[in-house]
Amino acid sequence: MQAYAQQQKPEYRKYPATKFEQLDELLPTPNVYRAADGSPGHEYWQQRADYKIQVSLNDENQTLKGSETITYYNHSPNAISYLWVQLDQNRFHKESNTYKSMTFEMDDNPSYQTMMWWAGVNSEHGYKISNVRDANGKPLPYTIVGTMMRIDLPQPIAPKGGTFTFSLDWEHKIIDANKMGGRGGYEYFPEDGNYLYEIAQWFPRMCVYDDVNGWQNKQFLGRGEFALPFGNYEVAITVPADHIVAATGELQNAKEVLSKTQLKRLEEAKKSDKPVLIVTEEEARENEKSRAKNTKTWVFKAENVRDFAWASSRKFIWDAMQVDVNGRKVWAMSFYPKEGNPLWGEKSTNVVALTLKTYSRYTFDYPYPVAISVHGPVFGMEYPMICFNGGRPNPDGSVPDRTKYAMISVIIHEVGHNFFPMIVNSDERQWTWMDEGFNSFLQYLTEQEVPKQAWAKDVVSPYPSRRGPAKNIVPYMKSAPDQMVPIMTNSEQILQFGNNAYGKPATALNILRETILGHELFDYAFKTYAQRWKFKHPQPADFFRTMEDASGVDLDWFWRGWFYSTEPCDIAIASVVHYTAQKDSDKSPFETKVFPKEKYQQMMERIEATSGVRFTAAEKRIYNDENLHFYSVKFKNEGGLIMPVIVELKFTDGTSRIERLPAEIWRYNDQEISKVFVTDKPVVAIVLDPNEETADIDTTDNVFPREEKAEGSKFDEFKQGK
Ligand SMILES: [Zn+2]
Repeated sequence: MQAYAQQQKPEYRKYPATKFEQLDELLPTPNVYRAADGSPGHEYWQQRADYKIQVSLNDENQTLKGSETITYYNHSPNAISYLWVQLDQNRFHKESNTYKSMTFEMDDNPSYQTMMWWAGVNSEHGYKISNVRDANGKPLPYTIVGTMMRIDLPQPIAPKGGTFTFSLDWEHKIIDANKMGGRGGYEYFPEDGNYLYEIAQWFPRMCVYDDVNGWQNKQFLGRGEFALPFGNYEVAITVPADHIVAATGELQNAKEVLSKTQLKRLEEAKKSDKPVLIVTEEEARENEKSRAKNTKTWVFKAENVRDFAWASSRKFIWDAMQVDVNGRKVWAMSFYPKEGNPLWGEKSTNVVALTLKTYSRYTFDYPYPVAISVHGPVFGMEYPMICFNGGRPNPDGSVPDRTKYAMISVIIHEVGHNFFPMIVNSDERQWTWMDEGFNSFLQYLTEQEVPKQAWAKDVVSPYPSRRGPAKNIVPYMKSAPDQMVPIMTNSEQILQFGNNAYGKPATALNILRETILGHELFDYAFKTYAQRWKFKHPQPADFFRTMEDASGVDLDWFWRGWFYSTEPCDIAIASVVHYTAQKDSDKSPFETKVFPKEKYQQMMERIEATSGVRFTAAEKRIYNDENLHFYSVKFKNEGGLIMPVIVELKFTDGTSRIERLPAEIWRYNDQEISKVFVTDKPVVAIVLDPNEETADIDTTDNVFPREEKAEGSKFDEFKQGK
């Protein structure tokens, strides 16, 4: 299951042209569930879990208490005799393996989080589970194993269509998100004495059971996120009556929980092309002063989602508009406390709308009815239709550039996660790159659209994207070998998490699009992958295979280099020899040799004399034309990673020409190759990867002659004929 371990086998290197070897032995054999072209096989199946949940929020002691009924559908060809359920909150208990497997030395600088875990704030956390019962109320035996729970069934669920319905009750303390750094939790605002809740991983959730792993019941240590089946949700959330609730799905009882004014404003928002306030800042400030003793129950329904999250506070300002996604109206909304303004009111919902439109263009039309951005203590976390985002202005409302760009980027990122992994539902517990990498790549493309938007007058162009451009990954690719693991590494074992699972795969895709395949081939293949696997569970091989099958380009060398190895790109120009018949060849900045024109002349004449072949005058130029120059260039691959060779030839007259040589140029010798470039004017300098497309970690050896620094002195001297 772990391709990385497989790759480390010594026999990996036993073949000569290893770097161009097909991936065959690294990928699972195609079968009836997953086809050789990367699409779901003709007998592809997946499980389903429907939830009915009642939950109530206790604002006095920050606890949740809930009861849920799960109907589990077994579409697999196997009978299932036990169910595995995820109890993610157990990670926050001090007996958890998350805590026990943390390593630390006294000389290290303690992080705030480490300190909090030590201090034992987590001792009250984790689930209290009770009343696990079947549809008739009969108790079901269960066993809790860390963050997982096994429920034993009275009899197996029949293959291909059997179902089982069961219920359970639970409660847990909500964590202080600022202390524990979870993906959800509360924030307390001492000035007005209110809480803001972002509630996630809050109910026992079914594990994925699939054709690859059986049950994906690998423990949750904190990194590897969630593997979840699709299903329909009906959730009733009881909160203090003065709270505003945002949640996955569509509100079912708006007339009961919203005021007439709020309902009227929602109608207005449907017709508006900019965000309309449903709850104004003034109203939110008033709400902050109230302390309702009664409660309201907000009911939401969501179809075909893999999870459900929500947020609640009396502090919420709420704005909304509808965005047109290829003819279908989708709600874009934001919920934020006054502490987020003016930034949040100006930007959040606009960023949501732009993200839905841009991602839809590269994948599939956003299929859900709503997308929500909530501002609270969690800096960035995604759920179906709702996400939690940071980026808070200074207390005086001023917004440093850093905060502004971080806020725009994180909203794009978390809304973007609706596509990967909420809809293209990969196994996050195993492969972080399949959602974070893809998402960071599309985040980059979306960020580049921001400066064109009317609401983004204060955004610089081009947008200062952190991840995406090849050159931005160079510092990571320079890391010491023991500080890196391949992208194809299980989530919990990744070193340099952000660079490995977000930055490197995003950059790899960007390089595929810009440099290897081009926009047309890449976009077609990537869209094919997204459309094939939307509302399904893809694996890495499904992606690798689809990209090759749909583009018609063999990319096994690319997956090997970028995803299965840690080698960096470091190509060098080792030497250049200039062959010319010109008398003033001593002006050349390269080692010069006389072009052996007789050799070519004799060969062509011999061919003409002994065969019917006749060379044209243009072809005979090779030995007739005194103005031709031949540059024999030797390249060394010092980094190991196979990449195309992109060469700029700079001429004495100030013009230049770019030659793009495919990666296959390395297929007979992946360490050293030579290539001859023929020009009809003298070259003054040769520059490798002139536009920084390949993430080459050492560019000092990318220029020849060496002392030529792009527009250096020799170049000017030569131009002036000195
Ligand atoms: Zn992410």
